[in-house]
Amino acid sequence: MRRNWGEIVVKVLVFGAGVVGTAAAYYLNRAGHEVTVIERNQGAGLETSFANGGIVSAFTARPWATPEVPRMLFKWFGRQDAPYLFRLRPDWSQWSWALRFLGQCTRRRFEQSQAVSLRLSTYSYGCLQEVRDSEQIQYDQRTDGVLHLFQSQQQLDAEAAAEMAHADSRFHPEAIGMRRAVEIEPALAASAGGYAGALYFAQDESGDAYKFTAALAAAAERHGATFRYGVAVRRLQSENGRIQAVDTDQGRFEADAYVMSLGSFSPLILRKIGIRVPIYPLKGYSVTIPTGGHQGAPGVAIHEGSRRIVMCRIGDRLRAAGTAELTGYDLSISPTRTQAILDVTMALFPDCGDAAKAERWAGLRPMTPDCLPILGRTRYTNLYMDTGHGSTGWTYACGSGRIIADMISGKQPDIDLAGLTADRF
Ligand SMILES: Cc1cc2nc3c(=O)[nH]c(=O)nc-3n(C[C@H](O)[C@H](O)[C@H](O)COP(=O)(O)OP(=O)(O)OC[C@H]3O[C@@H](n4cnc5c(N)ncnc54)[C@H](O)[C@@H]3O)c2cc1C
Repeated sequence: MRRNWGEIVVKVLVFGAGVVGTAAAYYLNRAGHEVTVIERNQGAGLETSFANGGIVSAFTARPWATPEVPRMLFKWFGRQDAPYLFRLRPDWSQWSWALRFLGQCTRRRFEQSQAVSLRLSTYSYGCLQEVRDSEQIQYDQRTDGVLHLFQSQQQLDAEAAAEMAHADSRFHPEAIGMRRAVEIEPALAASAGGYAGALYFAQDESGDAYKFTAALAAAAERHGATFRYGVAVRRLQSENGRIQAVDTDQGRFEADAYVMSLGSFSPLILRKIGIRVPIYPLKGYSVTIPTGGHQGAPGVAIHEGSRRIVMCRIGDRLRAAGTAELTGYDLSISPTRTQAILDVTMALFPDCGDAAKAERWAGLRPMTPDCLPILGRTRYTNLYMDTGHGSTGWTYACGSGRIIADMISGKQPDIDLAGLTADRF
């Protein structure tokens, strides 16, 4: 370590250039540290951060482990197009994760995790706004809110009551009928009859996480961070309670501090040094439909309640994403499951674009049982975790990166980390 302007400059290696690792690298660089990112792909944001749902759920980030999940699993059991599909394999880590996840599906656990989730998501939202303004990053962002659509009045009323119970009015949505929903998003006119109403979260946003990640990596590089693409992490070398080096397929790298941001692949590297974290891949899909020549694509982002599918406009494309499939590290694209997403999208917005040209994609959400990331120190004094961001990593990435940079700089993070550190498991 060397001293610079009265502060300690640390040489840091960040593993993984998804949206999470890239944000950590950016903040570490801005804090004055010497940062190198190790990424196996030839660019940033090419795995789970590539074609996700795009929603920045600043005021609606909530764990997926809800009391409704067991009922939904039962209701859709055996259907290939189920929103939640558990393909259990002879894999102990999968069974153990599934049991722990189901254990979180109680009202009390859900509410506890939701409070933590919103603490991080609102913090992260401020960080995202600051970064995009200071770096002038364009990522097809839309700041006109998200409409959550419900087919039944009962469900709408229940969700509205739960949201209005927040003491902080920033979390209160506008509960509206479909006439008002169509005023907010005229493209809903064709399908409004199928819905009872909506909750409008005017402050949530959307945008292309991949574009953001690539632009943030470029900004970090301009400021002096190094991205080593095409380098795969193999093993961490430890001694006396510290990480000494990392072995990669391109040789050995050394640093003062190390940040684990390999998404779903983090547990595979961590377990070789005796750290077990309950992160398991939860596969999801997206379809991206070109909207050119069509007038019926929404501008406002949408959350379709019955199938839990999100949609957002990304320039001249409409992205729709969702579904959860517990099936290990398999990244094959299921025609049935992607077709289910496409069908819901085309039924809602019949003239949104050319469905035949939709691009289908699958990504692995790095999911913990309580659906919250793991941030902070490990038992190795110079190894930090910034991983396990699950279904909300685009929303949480900037805040998490800022927190890790503060910790490595010896500063108190801006928010309380209770419920986010590894010792909760
Ligand atoms: C269908 C779908 C929809 C989603 N929708 C939303 C949404 O609307 N809003 C939201 O907030 N979040 C959403 N998410 C979640 C979000 O995309 C993830 O939480 C986020 O992308 C995770 O980022 P990450 O950087 O941790 O992982 P990744 O983006 O996967 O990055 C990890 C990086 O590590 C690299 N890597 C792995 N192993 C090695 C190795 N051994 N050596 C070197 N490099 C390695 C990978 O190449 C990768 O680049 C969605 C996810 C999916 C799948």
